[in-house]
Formats: sequence, structure tokens, C-alpha cells
Amino acid sequence: MAHWLQVLVQTPAHSQIAGPLSYQSECALSPGTLVRVPLGKREMLGIVWDAPTDDSLPVIAPDKTKAITAALDAIAPLSAHWRELVSFAASYYQRSAGEVALAALPPQLRDLSSTQLARRLKRKAGQVKPEELQAPNATKSVAPTAEQTRAIAQFDTKDGPFLLFGATGSGKTEVYLHCVEQLLAREPQAQAMVMVPEINLTPQLEARFVERFAPLYGADAVVSLHSGLTNPQRLKSWLAAHSGEARIVLGTRMAVFASMPALRLIVVDEEHDPSYKQQEGARYSARDLAVYRGRLEGAKVVLGSATPSLESWHHSRPAEEGGRYLRLLMPSRIGDGSALPRVRRVDMNHQPKKTVFSPPLLNALRERVARGEQSMVFLNRRGYAPVLGCSECDWKSECPHCSAFRVFHKIDRTLRCHHCGLTERVPRHCPSCGNPDIQPLGRGTEHLEEHLAELLADVRRPGSANEQHPDGQPVRIARIDADSTRLKGALQSQLAQVHAGEVDVLVGTQMIAKGHDFRRITLVAAVNPDSALFSSDFRAPERLFSLLMQAAGRAGRDAGLGGQSEMWVQTFHPTHPLFEALKKHDYPAFAAQQLEEREQAGMPPFSFQALVRAEARTQEAAQAFLTIARETAAALETAQQQVTLYPAVPMSIQRIANVERAQMLIESGSRVALQRFLSDWSAILHDTRSQPACKGLIRWAVDVDPLAI
Ligand code: ADP
Ligand code: ZN
Ligand code: ZN
Repeated sequence: MAHWLQVLVQTPAHSQIAGPLSYQSECALSPGTLVRVPLGKREMLGIVWDAPTDDSLPVIAPDKTKAITAALDAIAPLSAHWRELVSFAASYYQRSAGEVALAALPPQLRDLSSTQLARRLKRKAGQVKPEELQAPNATKSVAPTAEQTRAIAQFDTKDGPFLLFGATGSGKTEVYLHCVEQLLAREPQAQAMVMVPEINLTPQLEARFVERFAPLYGADAVVSLHSGLTNPQRLKSWLAAHSGEARIVLGTRMAVFASMPALRLIVVDEEHDPSYKQQEGARYSARDLAVYRGRLEGAKVVLGSATPSLESWHHSRPAEEGGRYLRLLMPSRIGDGSALPRVRRVDMNHQPKKTVFSPPLLNALRERVARGEQSMVFLNRRGYAPVLGCSECDWKSECPHCSAFRVFHKIDRTLRCHHCGLTERVPRHCPSCGNPDIQPLGRGTEHLEEHLAELLADVRRPGSANEQHPDGQPVRIARIDADSTRLKGALQSQLAQVHAGEVDVLVGTQMIAKGHDFRRITLVAAVNPDSALFSSDFRAPERLFSLLMQAAGRAGRDAGLGGQSEMWVQTFHPTHPLFEALKKHDYPAFAAQQLEEREQAGMPPFSFQALVRAEARTQEAAQAFLTIARETAAALETAQQQVTLYPAVPMSIQRIANVERAQMLIESGSRVALQRFLSDWSAILHDTRSQPACKGLIRWAVDVDPLAI
């Protein structure tokens, strides 16, 4: 007798097929089983899903129902918890469950047959040789400090979620290692997940976990899941996590969907990092889903940061004031002499116009070079100059396809659009008036590198008698940004040079400020950070503060060098509260000031937001789509309840690659009210697309809890 199955398949985000499809099967298969099913002319991977509890979902009439092609029953079904996580994420972020579920599985699962999979699973079994395992005492765990001990004790005795608020270098990673170690020793099946913002930038973390746990549980006990893996590697990690063989999964945001049957602990390191938010498809926040998943599965959750997101900071206020997370404090850095660097502000109002490096900063840089120490200079703008302009007429290097300027790259004398990629050789004459004098306006990292080479040309770093230049050698400057690291492996080799001491001054974008452990750097300088102070994006100050604190935390981590390390900030607003707080390394003061502003303005975390973005051939069509959807929404009961729909506006970069972009903000004081409204409104959004005024609409998407407004 045939059985009816509900099967989730990957459906286009806005197709009418939102729920599972019905298929027949010879035998009953439990929910979570992977299957292969026919859809149209194709065969697709699907997941047997729970029978719908909601009759509004379209179910294809049984007489038209096809049979599944195969069941991939070599793989255990995905758990009820996993399915619930997917369903929650789909409904919260307004996407189809099929899209979320299938995107969370390794791509290779789609291509392999059941037999191929069975073979792969067999090959894996028996890989860990028992003789490779060592006695538990073979690991070199360090004795925790008093602050670490206190944090660990709270972790052990309370439920969380926890916010581990610890200075850079306070030993947060050591706390994660310790908590994982205790868990794995106590429960023979238990699994832990550790998420980092960019695993490619932090191989150090992977090495620390492997070093600590491979001797205890075998080399396969630690696996990673991130987009840098090849498809076979990703499948291998995924299977190890899913089978329970991997005890620890390290990964980027995608890891939050890893199937882990015995998940007991989730760590989200650098929880403030914007890269935890997915920016396409289902725009989920891996940090927020981690907290949800922890509650769902009974796993403890630790969010860690030296500069928490204001959301997490707010959630971790005292319980009497409504806080839901428990704050664990580790204010001190490990080791003697590794105090946080001294912060020095240079008032650029007192410098000659167009100064790039103020004399005091330049002197400080020269001194470091002469002493053989390393410095890091960062500027969030790559290329040589953000704009090229004519000195005679008002021609500027606008991109013909975007509402943005093309950036001048001197290295290959090109003008490149950083939005659509259009690259052309720099014109010899002004394209508008023929004037040969076209000038770079403003500066990027390429310019900084060149300029520093001139300014430091006469400085000698210390030499030794047996070197070619006993009286010292010229300065070595390197640049790390998206341009210098385009080739595979380039970033790693450039970082290795810095670590090996082959670089005196490192110039770069925020790429160098984040996550890397540059122990020998004793000076960090932000040459032009002011634009974030007055940005239209209300989160810009928060991001700047965290970036500067992170950058400062990179400096002088080697004992002995810490005492003399400095963080320099060149600014036209030296008394801005952000810099005052930075000077004192006082995140709580900064957070209090920002939260007060946000509360007064009714902004997150005191309100909840969603954005609808529309892309179309014309700005009119993009806005028409949003405006009609907004007008139609007025009839909904849920739109009357604590929800504000703002008018449609062009996005800050209005046009990219000839596509016009517009957005509309929806705000509510209540997360529940916002969710109710969005779910009611979704059918209207789908239907609005076919309105005549929306002709030319290319795509639209909802972004719940958006990070960039
Ligand atoms: P964070 O993650 O907070 O930046 P880490 O965990 O990386 O800090 O610790 C900073 C440095 O201090 C690392 O080199 C680490 O090995 C060391 N460390 C951490 N905890 C201890 C400890 N209890 N005793 C000695 N060294 C420690
Ligand atoms: Zn001109
Ligand atoms: Zn462009």
C-alpha cells in the first residue's frame, strides 16, 4: 500500500509553492528522511517534512501525485529540532522553508546517489585509530585566571544565554575551550558548536581547537563548516556532524544550521560582527538563531565580545531591569605589561589643510620603524583615490551604470566601479572637455602606501653587524586589502610576512583590524575615521567604535611590548563622546550613551524593524511596488496594531548596474506585532508584483532585523 509523504524541495523564493509537496512512497518514511523526488522534468533532493498542521498550505491533489524516486536512507533522518529550527527561521525571515532547509544542506548531497552516499559513509567509519588517542592529561590546558574561573563557574551553574564581555586578550577563547572540554568529558555523546565571523581569517582558532581536542578525541572530532571548503570537504564535515562523530563543529554563520544530534553548547565569538547576518536569500542572523536554537535544544549559548552589539548588551542588562542574558565580565588582559594601548587623538583642525599624516603621528611612526617595531595604519577605502576629477570642467569619474563614482587604481591605471565591477583604463584627457589635467580627489589605501613610502624614505630600521647594511635598512611597507588579496592564498602569505617581522608598516582596510593576532605591532593608527560619526546609518558609530577597539586590541599583545603600545586617531572631532569613550577603553560608557540616543529616537533595540527592498528597471516601478503594497496593507487588521509603515524611498546607492533600488521601512515597538503583520502581508507582497504599475520590477525581498538601513 502506498504512503503519502510531505516533501520539502528547494523552491524559488517567491514561487507559489511555499509549503511541502505531496508524494507517494512504497514504504513509510519518517520526517527528516532525505529523498530524491521528481519535479517537472527534473529530479531533486527533498526532505520528508512533517504533515502540515495548517490547511492553508497548498497540497497537490493525491491523484496527480507522483512517487518519490529514492530514499537516501543511509543517512539518519534530520531531527525534529532541526526541522523546527528551519521552520522558525523560514517564518521569521519571511522565506520558504524549502529554500532555508535545502540551502542549509551541503550542495553535494544533491548530486550523490544513495549508493554513493552509503559508500562515503562506510569510508568514513573506522578512520579514527584508537592508538592515536592519548590520555586526557596529554593536553596542555592552562590554569584559568581568577576572572576566567569566575566566568566558568557562572557558566556551569546558570542556564544562560551568556554574554561574555571580555577585553581583547582577556582569555575568552580559553574560556570557550575550557567549557567545551568540560562538556565533552562529562557527556560522551555531547557536541559543541563554535562560530566565528570569518573562519578564513582565523585559522588560529581552528589550530587551537585541533591542538586541544585532537589528542583527546581523534583528528576527526573537530570539523569546520564554512564557504571556503570544497564541496566534498563540506559534505564530509556535515556528515561527521550529523552522525555525531564530530564532537566540535567550528564554522561561520552557515554552521548555525549544522545538523548535530547531541548539541549541548553553542559559542558565538565576536558576536557583534555584522557578518553573522546573511545578506541574501533568507537574511537570517546566525547569532539570533543560535540563541533560539539553544533554547530549542537545551544547549547553553555563550555570545562573546569585547564590544558587544548594542542589542546583546541591552539584553544582558540586569534581570531586574528586564535583561534576559547573563553578563560575564572579564575586563583584564592576560599577562603582565599587556595593558591596553594608550589612545592618542590628533586634532586635525590644527593641522595644515590636506594633511594626510599629521606630524606627531608621523614622528611616532618613524620612531617605531627606527626601533624595529611594527605599525598598522588603516583607512576604510581601497584604491588610490575614490574619485578622479577634471580641474577645468566638473567632470568626475562617475560610473555610467551606478549612482557612484569609479575608484582610481594607480597600480594598473584603471577606473573601477566597486559596485558593478566596470573597469576601464584611465582616460588621458578629460572625456568632457579634453583637458589633460585630471586629478585624484581624496585618498585610498594605495595612496597611503605610496605616500608613507615617501615620508619614511629616510628612516632606517636597526641593522646588525652581519647584515649588508650595518647602519640600518630601508623601511618595508605592505598593504592588505581586497585588491592585494584577490588571489587565492595571497592573504595568508601576506599575513605570514607580517607575523615573521618582514613588514614594518602595514597599511590596509578594516580587513587588518579584525581578528588577526598581530603580537608585534605596537602602534595602530586610524587616519580618517570621521565619516562614520555623521553617517545616515544609525549603526555606523557602533561599528566604528568596535572596529577601533578591536584594532587597539591587536596592538602590543606580546608581553614586554604592551607598555609602549599606542592607538592613534586623527579626527576633526576629538571631543566626540565616541573618542572620549575609546580613550578610556570604556565600552559600557559608549554603549550607555548610544542606547540613550536610540531610546529617545525609538530605534533598535527599543524598536523592531524590517525593510522591504525592491529592484526594478525604473525607480518609479521599484517605488510603485512598495507604495501599492503599503496602501494595500492598510486594510489589514495587523497593520493597525503598533506597526508603522514608512513611505518608499530610493536606497542610498540608488542605482547599481543599471538596476534602480528602493526600500521601505516597517517599524514596531513589539517584535510579535511586527511578525504578525509581516506574515499577514506576505500574500499582498506576492500579489502586488503583477500590478501594471510594477512592470519592470526585477526582484524584491524582506529583510527582518536589517543591519544596514
Ligand atoms: P581573547 O579570545 O579574549 O582575545 P585569548 O583566549 O586568545 O583571548 O587569550 C589571549 C592570550 O592569553 C592567548 O595567547 C592565550 O593562550 C593566553 N591565555 C589565556 N588564558 C590564559 C591563562 N589562564 N593563563 C595563561 N595564558 C592564558
Ligand atoms: Zn574637463
Ligand atoms: Zn558601476
